[in-house]
Amino acid sequence: MAKFSTKVLIIGSGPAGYTAGIYAARSGLEPILVSGTDTGGQLTLSENVENFPGFPHAVSGSELMENMRRQAELFGVVLINDKIVEVDFSRRPFECSSEKHNAFYADSIIIATGASAKWLGLPDEEKYRGFGISVCATCDGFFYRGKNVAVIGGGNSAVEEALYLTTFARSVTLIHRRDNLRADKYLQEKLFNTPQIRVIYDRTVEEFIGRNAPPTLEALKLKNVKTDKTEILPTDGVFIAIGHKPNTEIFQNRLELDNRGYIKTAPDSTRTSVEGVFAAGDVRNADFRQAVIAAGSGAMAAMEAGRWLCR
Ligand code: NDP
Repeated sequence: MAKFSTKVLIIGSGPAGYTAGIYAARSGLEPILVSGTDTGGQLTLSENVENFPGFPHAVSGSELMENMRRQAELFGVVLINDKIVEVDFSRRPFECSSEKHNAFYADSIIIATGASAKWLGLPDEEKYRGFGISVCATCDGFFYRGKNVAVIGGGNSAVEEALYLTTFARSVTLIHRRDNLRADKYLQEKLFNTPQIRVIYDRTVEEFIGRNAPPTLEALKLKNVKTDKTEILPTDGVFIAIGHKPNTEIFQNRLELDNRGYIKTAPDSTRTSVEGVFAAGDVRNADFRQAVIAAGSGAMAAMEAGRWLCR
């Protein structure tokens, strides 16, 4: 067990966390950044990032995050590979403890813990995770070369996953619970112009069907929400893309959260309900889950933390 003290503790290593680190370090605040379990965050799951400014020919999510990590390190951010599991914001310096039993004392904190993919919560979902059920086409699409797969959801993520999967799969069935998609029009156009993909509407997944040993998903039981009729759709794999939930479990009853669990921040600011604690990136923003926005809010958080420390 080690004890660390810092002016700024940054929790999370996605675009928000690293950018906060770069800005805080360049302001002489000597930040410590605790990376969390998934170093680099959600973007490491993206094969191609085409909309991060400065990369006209796209960049892989892992490369982009590795560059951010190196840039943070070059400016002197102390990077610690550990996960904060408990926070105490009731006294100053704030105190956080970690999975590896380290203690962190901080004059200010920037929370950039991001969000994680949601699951359907059906029986057997756990059993088939990694054996036919996935939440990441970039990670697992490769295993479905020449196979028939399904994608659940009707938002941008679901459509992007479906399009990406056509690189490998023989056929992709997008299953949506309503009769129109939520995804942006340009993505819908791409989707409807891809012959390998068919879309079925008004269906929910009722059950995952497959074998036990080894666990192998073989089919989905679907329900038509308009007629209540059920049907079996054979499939080799299913990708669940139904949105995300913020990683805010450890902040419950410590900070004000909105009704979806995202950290509330003051208008046009990263200030949270506790003075000296700031939040940046997807953990405070359900509507604009974009790397560039997360990075921008990370910069804001570092600047606001700096001003707060000099108050
Ligand atoms: P969204 O919340 O936008 O979409 C989730 C989809 O899953 C919706 O169609 C929703 O249905 C469906 N859904 C939710 N819960 C269930 C359930 N229990 N069973 C079945 N279906 C369910 O999430 P995304 O991850 O797609 O996107 C989140 C944000 O990130 C958005 O702001 C999006 O624009 C952005 N994003 C942008 C991208 C880009 O610009 N390239 C890429 C990916 C994400 P319903 O429509 O009925 O609510």
